[in-house]
Amino acid sequence: MSTRRILVVEDEPTIGDAVADRLSVEGYDVSRAWDGPGAVELFTTTEPDVVVLDVMLPGFDGHEVCRRIQAVRPVPVLMLTARDDEADIVVGLGVGADDYLTKPFRMRELVARVAALLRRVERAEELAASGDDSVRDWPGLRIDLGARRTWVDDAEVHLTPTEFELLAYLSESPGTVLTRERLLARVWGWGEGGATRTVDSHVKALRAKIGASRVRTVHGVGYALEVGRDR
Ligand code: CA
Repeated sequence: MSTRRILVVEDEPTIGDAVADRLSVEGYDVSRAWDGPGAVELFTTTEPDVVVLDVMLPGFDGHEVCRRIQAVRPVPVLMLTARDDEADIVVGLGVGADDYLTKPFRMRELVARVAALLRRVERAEELAASGDDSVRDWPGLRIDLGARRTWVDDAEVHLTPTEFELLAYLSESPGTVLTRERLLARVWGWGEGGATRTVDSHVKALRAKIGASRVRTVHGVGYALEVGRDR
């Protein structure tokens, strides 16, 4: 497998250096940007597999960066945020972030999150390489697993990598409730103790795109995809 490329966007030199150095030591090919415009430019020239993105940046902020790069190509994004602010996180997920780390964080934790995002990239590549071109088709909802594309009522909707993984997994067994722990393990690759709130936030974002009634909530348990008519 070729060396994975990671774009680190952080204007604070101490944090940016520490993150970039550690990821380099882990064997990744790391490039650095220090502001919003620089991040978008470097994204197109270096084609990273994962982006580690600070929220507060000069130029324009990390949310705007995320919005712009996701429009170019879906890519897993790990956001770095200064505070554990629910509103911040909801905005981030809305523009296509996959995961969050609140400063200060442990470098070991950052490496684990990046590795989890890369495992998802690998799974997607394996699926594409295996020639699995299966299309799941229900009234008003179509999912092309090979091309990783989704249509609602014949209009294509653009899902982030995480949203697509979530939908693909839910669509393996429509109508069946999958627990948040199971979704977390499968989609995020996290074991016990993962943040089930992460699942809730991404389901919320997915619902906004494919229709709220398509994902049924079983409170305190998990979620199921509903594919019947009249959705
Ligand atoms: Ca900053």
